[in-house]
Amino acid sequence: MWPVPQHVRQCWNRRRSEGLGVEDQDWWIWSWRRSDPTRKTRRPYTCGSWRCAGACASHAAHVLFARLSEASARKEYAADGWVFAVLTLDRLGTRGGQRWQSVREAYRALGSMSTRVLKRWRRLCDRRGWHVFGSEWAIIVEAHRSGWPHANLMLYCPELALELSLETEERERAGFIGRDRVVLAHGWEPLGKGIRGELGRHVVACGWGIESTAERCHSAEALSGYLVKLSRKPDETIGEIAKITQLPLGAPFRFRRLRSGKGFLPKARKNEQYTGALVKRVTDQWGCRDAIVPVPRGGHAAERLGAVECVERLELFVLSEEDRAAWSRWKGRPVTAVSVPPVSLWVGEVLQREMGPPGAKQAPVTSWDQFRAAAYQLSLPAVDARGFVAARTVSIA
Ligand SMILES: [Zn+2]
Repeated sequence: MWPVPQHVRQCWNRRRSEGLGVEDQDWWIWSWRRSDPTRKTRRPYTCGSWRCAGACASHAAHVLFARLSEASARKEYAADGWVFAVLTLDRLGTRGGQRWQSVREAYRALGSMSTRVLKRWRRLCDRRGWHVFGSEWAIIVEAHRSGWPHANLMLYCPELALELSLETEERERAGFIGRDRVVLAHGWEPLGKGIRGELGRHVVACGWGIESTAERCHSAEALSGYLVKLSRKPDETIGEIAKITQLPLGAPFRFRRLRSGKGFLPKARKNEQYTGALVKRVTDQWGCRDAIVPVPRGGHAAERLGAVECVERLELFVLSEEDRAAWSRWKGRPVTAVSVPPVSLWVGEVLQREMGPPGAKQAPVTSWDQFRAAAYQLSLPAVDARGFVAARTVSIA
C-alpha cells in the first residue's frame, strides 16, 4: 500500500468505504450563504483529491477534464493544432535514456525535466519559424502499474502538429501500426532524421526515455481525454494508455500532478455565494475532546468570526450528544441523545427537522433519506452544463 496524506485519510468517502461510521468522522464541513450565515449546512469532509479512489478521484478528473477542454477549445486555437506527447522514463537506462535508482528519485526530477523539454521544443519551433507556444501547455503525471511515473503533455503548435501527422502517415504507408506510428524511436534503433528524431534528441537530453511518443490531436475534446482518461469513445491512443496506467499514488505528498502554462487553464469554478469552515474534532492529552476550526495565518476574518465560533459550539454539541449516546448504549440504558444525520441543516443553533430550499414553503420531511436529499441539494448549489461543480461531491450512504 502507498502512504496516504492526512487530508485523504480524513475523507468521508474513504472512511465510509473502510466501514467507519459517522461517529468516527473527525472532520466536518459547515457551509452557509454569505448573505445568510444563520442558516448552515453540516456535512462530512470530503477531500476531492485525485489520490482518493472512487467519488473524489472521479470528481477531480471531471473538473480537470472540463478545465482542459475549456482551455483548448478557445477560439484562437485551431482544433487540430494540438500536439499530444507521452514522455516516459527509461528506468533501467538500457534504451538510450537515463538510469533511475528509485521511483522517489524519478518523481523529484519530473518537474525540472518537463520544464527543460518544453524549453528545448520551444526553441526548435522558433528555429523553424513555427508558432512558438508560450503558456499553451499542460502536463499531467500518471504512473505505470509498476508505480513508475510518466508524463502526458499537451501543447499548441499547429506546424509541429502537421509535421507529426505527415510523418505518421508516412509510417503507416510503410506498414507501422499502433504505438509504432507515434513513438519517437525504439531503444534498439538510432534516432531518425524526421521530426520525431529531432524531438527525441531533446527528450533524451533532458533525461527522458527515447520511447516517448508524440502525435497530432484532431480535436480539443480528444486531447482532454488523452490527458484525463474519461472519454466515452476510447480510440486507439486512449485505449492503449488506459490499459497500462493508474494514478501516481507513489508520488510524494506535496507532488504537483498537474502543471500548466501560466494562465492557460481556467480556475475550477466555485459558487461565490457560499462559504464555509472545516471543523476538526481533536482529543487532548487528558482525553478531552473539542471541536476547532483551524485559525488561518492572521486570524479569522472579522466578518466570519461569529459564524466560526457558532460552528465550533454546534460541532461540540453534536460531539457531546454522540458521547452521551455511546455512554447510554454501553450502560444498556435507553438513548435519549439527539441523533444528527450525516448531512443536516441548522438555523441559528437549532437542528432542523423539516427543511426545503430557502424561501420555499417548508414541506415536512418524513424520512431520513428525504432529509439527507434535501440537505444534499442545499450544500451543492450549482452544477453547470460543462460539469463544473460548485461544492465537492459527497456520497451519502
Ligand atoms: Zn476523498
